Amino acid sequence: MAKIGLIRCEKNETRCPLTGCLNCLENGVQGFVGHDGTSLVGVFTCRCPGEGLVNMAKILKSKGADTIHFCTCTFAHREGGKWVEGEGFCDHVDDILAQVSREAQIPCVKGTAHLPEGYRPQVFK
Ligand code: SF4
Repeated sequence: MAKIGLIRCEKNETRCPLTGCLNCLENGVQGFVGHDGTSLVGVFTCRCPGEGLVNMAKILKSKGADTIHFCTCTFAHREGGKWVEGEGFCDHVDDILAQVSREAQIPCVKGTAHLPEGYRPQVFK
């Protein structure tokens, strides 16, 4: 059973209640494929430019998280009714995931719900 911490972007926090992310987590689909069952440990909101994220990840870890997922809207955008890779909310999301996984010593997965076609969730370890 994977214990998941979620990190979302502040740019979407007043518009998205994470419904899709939480559904996918619960059902082990989209960005959560590959886990042998999932449970949610907690959620944090990233604030630009991302300071404090390593500490948030360490707190999630202390609460039992073994993996952190970053929301799809950080690296993809909606276009013509579909989600397309690129032009997400964060222009340095890869740097963030690399830093958090390295400094908090926890795998970070780029993606949650509505993955762009052909995209396979990238894991930073
Ligand atoms: S650093 Fe990136 S993920 Fe974090 S709030 Fe800013 S744009 Fe969003």
